[in-house]
Amino acid sequence: MTQFPTLAFIGAGNMARAIIGGLLNNGYPAEKIWACEPEAERLQDLADQGLQVTTDNNQAVAQVDIVVLAVKPQILKPVCTDLAASAAQNRPLFISVAAGITSDSINQWLGGEHAIVRCMPNTPALVQMGANGLCANSAVTAEQKAQAEKVISATGIALWVDDEEQLHAITAVSGSGPAYYFLFMEAMIAAGTKMGLTPEVATQLTLQTARGAAEMAFQSDVPPAELRRRVTSPNGTTEQAILSFQANQLEADVETAMQACYARSEEMA
Ligand code: NAD
Repeated sequence: MTQFPTLAFIGAGNMARAIIGGLLNNGYPAEKIWACEPEAERLQDLADQGLQVTTDNNQAVAQVDIVVLAVKPQILKPVCTDLAASAAQNRPLFISVAAGITSDSINQWLGGEHAIVRCMPNTPALVQMGANGLCANSAVTAEQKAQAEKVISATGIALWVDDEEQLHAITAVSGSGPAYYFLFMEAMIAAGTKMGLTPEVATQLTLQTARGAAEMAFQSDVPPAELRRRVTSPNGTTEQAILSFQANQLEADVETAMQACYARSEEMA
């Protein structure tokens, strides 16, 4: 494979565009990327950026090195079934971002033993701050793993797990995680506004605080628990808030919520 393997995105919606945007920003040659969509007008801006576009999924799958399956999970079965002949002839690496669909199901629908990497992305991929969990099936070569990681890393970080079952835990941590932080932000903005701040001031302070705390946690060599202890002076203001969170079982609530997410992910698989 060359430095820039040819890629085909099956489905050119939000997640595909997030990955494509990251790839182009990172200098991936646009002409090496195919976008495949039934709705031709959705392809125009991608064609304007130099991508190869088609409404015929098989045209691209028959010739590329890597196929990114980026359609909604509920239509993945007919999409894969339709690709079986091209996949059998070309044997590309498949990367699926479809939530909850196992590599065994994808293989069954493609009708063979294909190399498949499953990816659990998250929506900050749209601003190239994604957190992706990856899992390869046994047909994926070391070179293909490196290629998949390069493609998905265009949207943020990419971490591998060996057991496909762990994608449920990744769904609970990072796949659904952005919404937990948004909920926390909503609650802080609402409380700040009740205390007399304008919604605009409460929003800006909340968002910058979230960004600042995340950046500090990234740059620090100590874990978040230690950072929290360092900003919690005995008898100070922060301590009162932390004691209230703990008395109301915040940690247990977070665990219960993540277990519910995990269980739903298992149910949907
Ligand atoms: P989307 O609806 O924005 O994009 C899907 C695209 O597929 C649409 O443009 C649609 O026209 C196209 N399409 C429909 N039928 C097709 C066909 N037969 N062939 C080719 N293209 C076809 O959806 P999305 O939000 O980009 O989601 C795509 C996948 O990404 C889903 O499987 C979802 O599970 C996953 N995803 C996960 C997360 C997350 O936060 N974990 C976030 C977004 C997406």
